[in-house]
Amino acid sequence: MTLTVETPSISAAVAERLARAPHVFLAGHAEAPLSGESRPVLDPATGRAIGTAACGGAADIDRAVAAATRAFDPASPWRTMTPLERGKVLHRIGDAILARADEFAELEVLDAGKVRGAARGIDVDFAARAFHYFAGWPTKIVGSTVPSSHPGIHIRTEKDPVGVVGAITAWNFPLLLCGWKLAPALASGCTVVLKPSEETPHSALWLAELAVEAGLPPGVLNVVPGLGGVAGQALVDHPDVDKITFTGSTAVGKRIARRAADQVKRVTLELGGKSANIIFADADLEAAVAGSAGGIFWHSGQTCSAPSRLFVHRSVHDEVVARLRAIADGLRPGHGLDADTELGPLVNAAQRERVEGHVRLAGEQGATVHMGPEVPRDGYFHPATVISDASDDMTCAREEIFGPVLTVLPFDDTDEVLRRADDSEYGLAAGVWTRNVNTAHRATKALRAGTVYVNGWGLTDPAAPFGGFRQSGYGRDLGPDSLEGYLETKSVWTFYG
Ligand code: NDP
Repeated sequence: MTLTVETPSISAAVAERLARAPHVFLAGHAEAPLSGESRPVLDPATGRAIGTAACGGAADIDRAVAAATRAFDPASPWRTMTPLERGKVLHRIGDAILARADEFAELEVLDAGKVRGAARGIDVDFAARAFHYFAGWPTKIVGSTVPSSHPGIHIRTEKDPVGVVGAITAWNFPLLLCGWKLAPALASGCTVVLKPSEETPHSALWLAELAVEAGLPPGVLNVVPGLGGVAGQALVDHPDVDKITFTGSTAVGKRIARRAADQVKRVTLELGGKSANIIFADADLEAAVAGSAGGIFWHSGQTCSAPSRLFVHRSVHDEVVARLRAIADGLRPGHGLDADTELGPLVNAAQRERVEGHVRLAGEQGATVHMGPEVPRDGYFHPATVISDASDDMTCAREEIFGPVLTVLPFDDTDEVLRRADDSEYGLAAGVWTRNVNTAHRATKALRAGTVYVNGWGLTDPAAPFGGFRQSGYGRDLGPDSLEGYLETKSVWTFYG
């Protein structure tokens, strides 16, 4: 195995995007940031700069919010567009993503350290699916007629868009999160200022351009890359922003909720997790091990719903641990654009340091740490790692690690494992592997998580709500439930008597 990583050749379209001068996207066109600041964007697989991104400041956010506010005017092209036309625009945005699917996948590999197959099959495809799914919604958002108890008075409800939405997204799924946040917001008739992660801004900027080409009126979607503590905070604090939708860490989510509370701003939070995954003794072990390993090791564990706590029935525990170690040993690290790469890097040096710290601590706390083979010294790789002989109170079993690190815990009894699985401050996802339908039903009822998988892991669907219980957040991305986060209910009274 080579321990150095070269950037493979990239397509002309992606090279051209990466070569562009740092910019924000405001009112339908790209321009230099008022802040005058920029930052290099690094390829996580090599640690080398691949481009430079604008680092927008409060003045850039202010202009973006002003553009989004103008676009939300009742007489604006967006607000006067029929629901059917709005749906068509959304559909065309989905088509535009698919038309450039290979280039978007390449961009996500270079920005976020993804592996090409997953970037193409999941990030890009699922982003497009979100737009295609929500394209059907504008014509189906309806109010109701209220059975009035007042003679001569007619009462009905309307669903109004909440207004200007500030969307703040993380680096782990840059394009996909655009789909999850923007598609329901636009389907509801809102306008948006998006602040993508400073690590991974390219796909969001490109998408905004394509959206205008697809017929989205200028100003409806504005993108300001910038630091969380500067541009992100300015967006949260801006008095003309009606709602914040956020994906990222629980710590930042709490901060956002506190600041937004000052203005009674609506907030949707999709935060961290420490998802429990349970393999019962009667499970199809082959499928259970493959699904559990796939769930934690793909994108090097940098997924909010990663099944990072694996409970295994004691009768099959040792066999499962052996199989997981074999999988960890066999994953080929490399650049995500290389066809045979199976394990990509972590997003940056800070994340790698954080993951290394967690693994070291697990060993210090008495767990057995099995690390896969050496990884390249270039970039920010971390070996796939299986931690066993751990206990529920160890840090590796409680805190989100956000790396390719799996903690395995044995159990003896169903009631016991369901109790232990739920003993977490998080509640994003959970999973059970069993052939017994009664066990499956008991578990899905008992587990307090926003998504519960039975005999599988990790899929999402634009029609299925996604979000967390407890400190994994509130509100939902995707599905009809997500629309509620972008709508206000208005009661309309007509006195006709
Ligand atoms: P953050 O929560 O810091 O970042 C997420 C987004 O929030 C980014 O766009 C970030 O901007 C922005 N942000 C940061 N601070 C503020 C603020 N004060 N006000 C408004 N916006 C802000 O995640 P990190 O990138 O620091 O990752 C740290 C940990 O968070 C990970 O190790 C992981 O445990 C967890 N995480 C969870 C994710 C999930 O999907 N649930 C996704 C990503 C991380 P910028 O990037 O420019 O700083």
